[in-house]
Amino acid sequence: MTGPLREAAVDLGAISGNVARLRSLAGTPHAMAVVKADGYGHGAAAAARAALDGGADWLGLADLAEALALRSDGVRAPMLAWLHDPRAEFRAAIDAGIDIGVSTLDQLDAVAAADAEALPHVHLKVETGLSRNGLAPEEWPAAFERAALLERAGLLRVRGVMSHLSNASEDDDATALAAFRRALHLLEEHGITPELRHLAATAGTVQRPDARFDLVRLGIGVYGLSPLAGVTSAELGLTPAMTLRTRVAAVRTVPAGAGVSYDYTWRAPEATRLALVPLGYADGVPRAASGLAEVEIGGRRHPVRGRIAMDQLVVEVGDAPVAVGDQAVLFGDPAAGHPSADEWAEWAGTINYEIVTRIGPRVERTYA
Ligand SMILES: *Cc1c(COP(=O)(O)O)cnc(C)c1O
Repeated sequence: MTGPLREAAVDLGAISGNVARLRSLAGTPHAMAVVKADGYGHGAAAAARAALDGGADWLGLADLAEALALRSDGVRAPMLAWLHDPRAEFRAAIDAGIDIGVSTLDQLDAVAAADAEALPHVHLKVETGLSRNGLAPEEWPAAFERAALLERAGLLRVRGVMSHLSNASEDDDATALAAFRRALHLLEEHGITPELRHLAATAGTVQRPDARFDLVRLGIGVYGLSPLAGVTSAELGLTPAMTLRTRVAAVRTVPAGAGVSYDYTWRAPEATRLALVPLGYADGVPRAASGLAEVEIGGRRHPVRGRIAMDQLVVEVGDAPVAVGDQAVLFGDPAAGHPSADEWAEWAGTINYEIVTRIGPRVERTYA
């Protein structure tokens, strides 16, 4: 292994392939790759370019700063940002050609009053059950009327209408879908027919054809991970894009009874060979996975012993021929024999999204 000591190796071909796979499955006229949170930890600009190569024609971001950063990086594709600082100023984003997701009447007015050079393009975000952001059903009549007025006045254009599913259950998603359809209907009554109606994220894309509309917003699936509990990447035809790896920093044999790592939560029951792996919770390796996780070295999995520390963790390697400098893989594509991000999620009591997104800044992203 010749890369940096702490490496998140990102397979850009996997990202392009995942987008192509999901886009053909969706069959929608448009597909948005969601590259918020630094591309789910993979690097936003690189992920965005690979996703566009794979057939995405929109990019989704949480906030304006993320979108503007991508523009500064030279990414020119259509972009949408939907979660705003209460003090957000929209002008720079509008002039950078970034569409604005609008969740309140105040935001709608602020966009119209932004005094931008370019015509603002908004996507009305309607609340259909998640209880997060979006216009509540009781606000729809006033907000849609105002949007129609502003559109007729030439102050903005309503390009899209959107909502987001809870994935709580099939019934709950059906209820949300019905609410979304009511919003579409009411919009039409107000003379607004947005060209982009969008509801489905990755989960909706793969399991709810009726939620696909004109555009799907693909997040976790872009990175090759499954949004569905109990369904693997491979079962969805996706390839995990990130491999988290490092080099073994030390190997030692400890005597029976030796305590391992802080608090001695594990003691060697007999003379034991241990390898020191220089990645820890500062790098996003969840401490909650202490004593449960496994790390692959030399094609074999070895159990993590004791607490995962800030910068390092210890694995038991037994009599496997493990040496200082050997590659240690925490997770990657299980098809290549690596533990998966899904397994780490299970060990840590969380979801695969959190495993990749929290990989820290000390870990160098490399691209192939
Ligand atoms: C993050 C996000 C997505 C992507 O969701 P995935 O489950 O990762 O596909 C889509 N839409 C909205 C509004 C989001 O916030």
